[in-house]
Amino acid sequence: MNIILFGPPGAGKGTQAKLICKKYKLDHISTGDILRNEISKGSELGLAAKKIMDSGNLVSDEIIIDIIKVRLSENKKSNIDFLLDGFPRSINQANLLSKIMNELEISLNSAILIDVEQSVLINRILNRKNTEGRDDDSEEVLASRLKVYYDQTAPLIQFYKDLNLLKWVNGVGEINDINQQINSIMEQL
Ligand code: ADP
Repeated sequence: MNIILFGPPGAGKGTQAKLICKKYKLDHISTGDILRNEISKGSELGLAAKKIMDSGNLVSDEIIIDIIKVRLSENKKSNIDFLLDGFPRSINQANLLSKIMNELEISLNSAILIDVEQSVLINRILNRKNTEGRDDDSEEVLASRLKVYYDQTAPLIQFYKDLNLLKWVNGVGEINDINQQINSIMEQL
């Protein structure tokens, strides 16, 4: 089962992704985590990404696509299914993903949207700033991350609807309840 999990910043993708990957034995591919790991290693890629991430913008498609290509090819060789968290984030990235998956002869089973309204997101992210201290969780950067989401990522909803792959989850509520919603989607795939 190969899955995309997407939704606005603060929707709880990371938390839900971990639960799903554990239960269904999927490789959790979080482009945000991969980039943060590069930053903490101080690699060239990390240095290039940090400035852009701190401003709330998207890092270049070239950087992201290279990361995804390598990881999906490895998974294909080892016959491991995966969950994408934080990728694709634009129609262009979604088209590039389709191309890579076609080349590797693997298919996408579903794109699951965790939907949360804006006012809830803002509160959650500002709270997260206090507990996790992520540099891009400040109020100023948040506005630009939300704008990037609505301008560039939200069009994926129609994109995956047209492909008959979209599943919708209400992301407001208890972690457990949201997890149940996703599990029942997974059971039906
Ligand atoms: P969130 O979903 O909470 O916004 P992520 O951890 O997924 O956070 O991403 C943090 C930042 O990493 C993004 O704002 C962006 O700068 C960068 N990033 C992550 N994934 C991608 C991607 N697929 N394309 C471009 N930039 C990305």
